[in-house]
Amino acid sequence: EPVPKLAAAMAPSTGKPAVTPESVINLDHGDPTMFEEFWQGTGSAAEIVIPGWQTMSYFSDVGNVCWFLEPGFGHEVRRLHRLVGNAAVDDGYHVLVGTGSTQLFMAALYALSPPGAPAPMSVVSTAPYYSSYPAVTDFLQSGLFRWAGDASSFKGDTYIELVCSPNNPDGAIREAVLSSESGVAVHDLAYYWPQYTAITRRADHDIMLFTVSKSTGHAGTRIGWALVKDREVAKRMTKFIELNTIGVSKDSQLRAAKVLRAVSDAYELPKGREAHRLFDYGRRKMVERWSMLREAAAASGIFSLPEETSGYCNFAKETAATNPAFAWLRCDREDVDDCASFLRGHKILTRSGSQFGADPRYVRVSMLDRDDAYDIFVKRLSSLR
Ligand code: PMP
Repeated sequence: EPVPKLAAAMAPSTGKPAVTPESVINLDHGDPTMFEEFWQGTGSAAEIVIPGWQTMSYFSDVGNVCWFLEPGFGHEVRRLHRLVGNAAVDDGYHVLVGTGSTQLFMAALYALSPPGAPAPMSVVSTAPYYSSYPAVTDFLQSGLFRWAGDASSFKGDTYIELVCSPNNPDGAIREAVLSSESGVAVHDLAYYWPQYTAITRRADHDIMLFTVSKSTGHAGTRIGWALVKDREVAKRMTKFIELNTIGVSKDSQLRAAKVLRAVSDAYELPKGREAHRLFDYGRRKMVERWSMLREAAAASGIFSLPEETSGYCNFAKETAATNPAFAWLRCDREDVDDCASFLRGHKILTRSGSQFGADPRYVRVSMLDRDDAYDIFVKRLSSLR
């Protein structure tokens, strides 16, 4: 790891250099630092203290399928879903905790791929798909499962279909495109929260993945959760995590529980907490950023963006536009066939469409960075011709 030379010029806690108008702006990763400002204002509501003797055991709840799930975290997960209405948590759903939803994604592949099958299970997702899906599926070259590409061109009836909605990278609202007796879907609902999209229905799929990385912005806490209907699948997913990391950090679970609790309290406790309502804050920020971006793209004249869609949000009780966590930006200039390198030439780092199984004229741009970086990005973008 390079040792930072100018500690004073570092932004707090991230090790990233502070930005200046000449800086390279890195919007390649979806690092949710936009939310820091909100959490700077919540004071002790989201703080925890852990005495030296606590969280020492491997175990949390030995009677539960997920024996390393901190009950307080499980409780706050269910409470938040009931408040927001974005996912069913009653009717026998199991809550599983993972080191980010990334670990739960791997656990789901393991749980859904029968051992001793004649060929590895095919793992598919409609393009453009989240670039980690192929990378994470294939990095250990498992004999159990294998990346098989774009779901819309897949032939066969045994598969795991990854359905990301709203979709990373393009923000589209998605449903499974395949259906068969022996095919299964895993729903990645990392962005199904009111700051990004209208909550139009209570999702009740067999396996649903969520993460604090995108809901509250606490990516560094590395906590995700799965809502799983079937007990046997829940057991196999738990087994994967047992073999992989013998459970999930209790310290992180306690912190995540406190953070989720602060989010719910701000809506459910009486009065005086309006300023600490995360989804209201997040929606305001995203609306503002998307309007800045659309203006910048229009001023430049060489970029296009997905059309804005909207729906009635059962949580906000009003019609709300989608404000995706990423912009799926297309460069329309005839002589530019690689938008990522064109933008890199202007010191804007993005992720190429090619990494999502799509056209390199597209790039994915994070909408969740800090204000200073975002402001420089839109200013620079609007000046490109
Ligand atoms: N799913 C999607 C669609 C994501 O965009 C991300 C984060 N970029 C993840 C999962 C992983 O989240 P986590 O930090 O919880 O591992």
